[in-house]
Amino acid sequence: MNKDGKSALIIFGLLMIVIGGAITASMGFDAYWHILSQSYTYQLNGIGEVGIIVAILGVIMLIVGIVAEVKPDTPYTYGPPPPVYYSYQQPQPIQTTCPVCGQIFQAGFLSCPRCGTKLKTYCISCGQMVDTRATICPYCNSAMEK
Ligand SMILES: [Zn+2]
Ligand SMILES: [Zn+2]
Repeated sequence: MNKDGKSALIIFGLLMIVIGGAITASMGFDAYWHILSQSYTYQLNGIGEVGIIVAILGVIMLIVGIVAEVKPDTPYTYGPPPPVYYSYQQPQPIQTTCPVCGQIFQAGFLSCPRCGTKLKTYCISCGQMVDTRATICPYCNSAMEK
């Protein structure tokens, strides 16, 4: 449960106690007295009973809200990367790592085979494939367009 869920439970629990209490109180305190004096058997009619049930549900929500463990919202992750991807060409010793998901794969791929992030782009001056993070084309030394 996250923090918002916890506070929502506490707030709704308190609200239901107040609303349930108000409904029952509007029927007069006889309602509570009946429950206490008649050995917890329901002696109420209609709306007073509903008020008590609402209040009891409110208490349960409040307790659940207070007891509930707050877990921090975990950001979406890809989990541990699976084994290295290679093309079906001769295995090459040079590897590269996806800057987005951390996947390791053969250098030279145009996009990450795991998350699809584009890794290479054409240099508009010389037409070579260049890493998208490059600011200057390593082949012709011209500035890369961003
Ligand atoms: Zn990736
Ligand atoms: Zn170039």
